Amino acid sequence: MSDGKFIYTFEEGDRNDRMLLGGKGANLCAMTQIGLNVPPGFVITTVACLAFLDSQRLPDGLMDGVRTHIATLERKSGKGFGSPANPLLVSVRSGSAMSMPGMMDTILNLGLNAATLEGIAAQTGNPRFAWDAYRRFIQLFGKIAMGVPDEAFDAAMTAIKRKHRAANDVELTTEALQELADAFLVVYREHTGAPLPADPFDQLERSIQAVFQSWNGKRAVDYRRQFRITPDMANGTAVNVCTMVFGNMGDDSATGVGFTRNPATGENVIYGEYLVNAQGEDVVAGIRTPKPIAAMAQEMPGLYRELVALRDTLEAHYKEVQDFEFTIEHGRLYCLQTRNGKMNARAMVTTSVGMFEEGLIGKDRALNRINALLLEQLLVPTLDPTHKVHSLAQGLAASPGAASGSIVFDADTAEQRGRAGENVILVREETKPEDIHGFFAAQGILTSRGGKTSHAAVVARGMGKPCVSGCDAIAIDVRERTARIGDAILREGDIITIDGTTGNVYPGRIPTVEAQFFAELATLLTWADEVARLEVMANADTPRDAARAREYGAKGIGLCRTERMFNDPQRLPIVQDMILADTPAERRAALDRLLPIQRGDFKGIFAALAGLPVTVRLLDPPMHEFLPTASQLEFEISHLRNLQRAARSVAELPDTLKMLDPELPREYVESLGKLQRSLAQYREAKRGDAALERREAMLKKVHLLSEVNPMLGHRGVRLGLSFPEIYEMQIRAILEAAAECTREGIAVHPEIMVPQVCAVEELRRVKAMVDALQAEVETSHGVRVPCRFGSMVEVVRACMRAADLAGIAEFFSFGTNDLTQAAFSFSREDAENKFLPQYIDSGILPDNPFEMLDVDGVGRLMQLAIEWGRGARPDLAVGICGEHGGQPEAIRFCHDAGLDYVSCSAPRVPIARLAAAQAALQGRAS
Ligand code: PEP
Ligand code: MG
Repeated sequence: MSDGKFIYTFEEGDRNDRMLLGGKGANLCAMTQIGLNVPPGFVITTVACLAFLDSQRLPDGLMDGVRTHIATLERKSGKGFGSPANPLLVSVRSGSAMSMPGMMDTILNLGLNAATLEGIAAQTGNPRFAWDAYRRFIQLFGKIAMGVPDEAFDAAMTAIKRKHRAANDVELTTEALQELADAFLVVYREHTGAPLPADPFDQLERSIQAVFQSWNGKRAVDYRRQFRITPDMANGTAVNVCTMVFGNMGDDSATGVGFTRNPATGENVIYGEYLVNAQGEDVVAGIRTPKPIAAMAQEMPGLYRELVALRDTLEAHYKEVQDFEFTIEHGRLYCLQTRNGKMNARAMVTTSVGMFEEGLIGKDRALNRINALLLEQLLVPTLDPTHKVHSLAQGLAASPGAASGSIVFDADTAEQRGRAGENVILVREETKPEDIHGFFAAQGILTSRGGKTSHAAVVARGMGKPCVSGCDAIAIDVRERTARIGDAILREGDIITIDGTTGNVYPGRIPTVEAQFFAELATLLTWADEVARLEVMANADTPRDAARAREYGAKGIGLCRTERMFNDPQRLPIVQDMILADTPAERRAALDRLLPIQRGDFKGIFAALAGLPVTVRLLDPPMHEFLPTASQLEFEISHLRNLQRAARSVAELPDTLKMLDPELPREYVESLGKLQRSLAQYREAKRGDAALERREAMLKKVHLLSEVNPMLGHRGVRLGLSFPEIYEMQIRAILEAAAECTREGIAVHPEIMVPQVCAVEELRRVKAMVDALQAEVETSHGVRVPCRFGSMVEVVRACMRAADLAGIAEFFSFGTNDLTQAAFSFSREDAENKFLPQYIDSGILPDNPFEMLDVDGVGRLMQLAIEWGRGARPDLAVGICGEHGGQPEAIRFCHDAGLDYVSCSAPRVPIARLAAAQAALQGRAS
């Protein structure tokens, strides 16, 4: 940790102290210390950053220290900072403990001024390079240290390119670059009111301050909020000051970025891109399209071998896939930075299994290095392979997955339309860090420029969103808000589909299919199951969902919501008959029709689970959810009444016509006759009357069932006890399905769960129904049907009376959706649309408690319920089936709190399996 020192050289910094030196700084120290060729430099610590942010001035003595360290760099490089004859130039980069790509800012070529520029030109014999470096410095320093907008520089660049008829900035001559630098100096003066400082120490001091300040810039703050980076994970940014080396010194120079393995597939081959005679930002900004690293084997074979050796050293040291930057200056290879490679989920899983099999890492690390939430990407949809749509254009497959949406040409529009619920594809020439909010809102990203390591590609991959980059067949006109591809013109709002796995862009929306498990994922999750203590179950309501849950490795169904079966359009009328019934006998008649249907459902689910536990929850929602709304019914009733009136009028039509003119009806005799006959049939069939009567009855029922607060009203077990025949039918269906399966040789393990329980007496009464029906079914079917009986715990009083409930319930399942509503007294729908975003933004609540389990409140209730419940019944099984059951932090809590299982939707099962293993590993470590 810091010993009062604010500055460390790369040789002396503690390479493991990322909090103090930032990830980049610690890595520069590590790389230097393991013998890689890193240009000399030093790190100014995050502690200095925090001191600066506190007082808005650099700590006392900091600049003296900087001067001393610059003197060391001067000694090591033999150059002088500000020396016109042999100038030392440096880069100034930010870097915090957590990697935040593109979030903080970098200034290159610092130390240039009119005099040192001449020195560089004379020394290298390459004035073009000197002017190129100078104009880059003016722009970066202007933008980052002084806030001069990019557009002002871009306008000057466009004007000079046009004047010199240069399509590309590499085509600009020395004179043109000189003109450009002069124009940039004017832009700088106009925007800042002062000339660019010539003193390199003045430049350096302002740059250090700007990097520190950028920690609190909007982009950085947004990024930290989005990815939940808290101060104990990263607090402040360090500043890395490093001797510049140049990849744009001629054809024996180059610059590039590399991954030690392929970040899209995880394949164990060096991967990346490079550009000869260029500077790093050319690759990152996508200004020129780079070559794949494989091409270097031919173009620079000796250096390619050095690069492969560099890759081996990095992986052997970090035991992790690295994303590194390199520069070749006059044939000498330098490693400028390295960090853990950001990869898509598939590559993370494949490299985990690969590195374990190569003996580079152990199983624990193979499991721990993956952010469990990433696995969701593996279940992202891909394009339906049978589609016949021709692609409009093909770019680079920069981040896998497929998405459709309306075209938007800027990040603000993406945010607006995305917020309104629209699916959008952000289409840009290239993206910049300030577009980040557009990435969050978009389903996918398409750029016309830039490689697979451009900003768009890296950010999209990190977020698991599809991206096609470098699609140069698309000409984008942001002002006209059009994109031209050949003869086709696409406008903002037009729908396109992008496939980030192949790089194709298609017109319109193309259907997608779900992803499949692949071998490495299955292997990794098997390792996870070996380590995890928590079992992972799934929430599934149909045989199809149940089968999918099994495929994803669920150890059973933790929640089968029976009401979902009632909502099937063919069944709903029977359910409505049951609700409309005025007597228990009528109700039973409707339930008799539902019984075989429910029994069939349960048989399907039991069969899909082949003997694994299936927890069926008895009916939960209030009745009115199965009926149309009052306004819908009123609308239909008024239409039906109009129809009846019209029918009566038509029936009277012949007599009315005769009254007017006795001859007239003869003309219409045939058509009137037909009409009257069909009306008579309609009246006889009483179809209209029946429809009207049914709706009138429903409307009466809707009024009768109307509640001020239905979610706290007549639902769950309360409904089941008011109308016991409903629960009796469901319990019978479960037990008969189990009995039939048993007789057919299918193993079953049914569990019955009661929702909304607040008092033990409720449980006792439902248990009595189960016992009676169980005895009856066992006798009638001649087989035993063991069935566990349990309670949802989703009401605060249920937590408080857990000891009583456990006297009857053999298991508890925490319904944290309702328990969160109850604990906060927030209605979810209202909270999320109204005050909750503001509560979170202003820091009143740290998170949305419906997404992230509120450990301090809801979690505490759960702990009490477990303690009291197990006090009464030591072998009480406890699980969770609210949405939080698939959320890694909540799973960690559930592990620590001693739950037996978590249950979540099928696509979250892989996440939960991995998170359960990570929780166990973390538990062991602590
Ligand atoms: C719960 O409340 O957490 C739960 C699983 O039940 P539902 O979401 O169906 O109300
Ligand atoms: Mg509930």
